[in-house]
Amino acid sequence: MTQNNSSEIIVETILSVPFQENGYLIYQVGNQECFLVDPGFEPEKIIECVQNKELNPIAILVTHGHADHIAGIDAIRTVWKNCKIYIGEEEKEKLIDAEQNLSAPFGFAITVAPADVLLRDGDKLDLAGISIEVRHVPGHSKGHLVYLLRTLSTPILFTGDVIFKQSIGRNDFPDGNPAIQLEAIRSQILSLPDETIIYAGHGQMTTVGAERQTNPYL
Ligand SMILES: [Zn+2]
Repeated sequence: MTQNNSSEIIVETILSVPFQENGYLIYQVGNQECFLVDPGFEPEKIIECVQNKELNPIAILVTHGHADHIAGIDAIRTVWKNCKIYIGEEEKEKLIDAEQNLSAPFGFAITVAPADVLLRDGDKLDLAGISIEVRHVPGHSKGHLVYLLRTLSTPILFTGDVIFKQSIGRNDFPDGNPAIQLEAIRSQILSLPDETIIYAGHGQMTTVGAERQTNPYL
């Protein structure tokens, strides 16, 4: 699926099985650099997409360390060795611990390479010519981040498993917390403009305004 969200930024959604997880490829027209969000299982699909466009991934932004959001990291780094892994500082252990990333409890233990860059709430990034703001939204996972792209027109938000179209992420994992989750969603996501496009870790894209008005969990 191709979405042209503004005059300049392209977001490609690459769906992986078995968890129906959305990985994302982001780039600007005219810039050969790109970055990825949450490469999960089936990384070969992402690699093929990047190669077809003749792009160079310089970063993998991880929203949180659950296995279905990180499983593709090592395959991508085998092809692009200088592609750096970014994750929240409270989430870094999940990359290298199969218990914490929930793969072992689900019966398919995996780990991936450790983080290159640790992020905190409020950090600002500039990747592939795109300005990105980092927001900490705990509750599904303690170090969960969302990534806000400040574009010339409509803001774009990658939300991982914090919020979905008409739903929110589970909050019953060992480091989850329902009260913190709702407070964090309100302060860090619902505070954004209505037109902000949400690309979630599972399901269809939506907007902040649509979820504010119709999400039954909020
Ligand atoms: Zn998750």
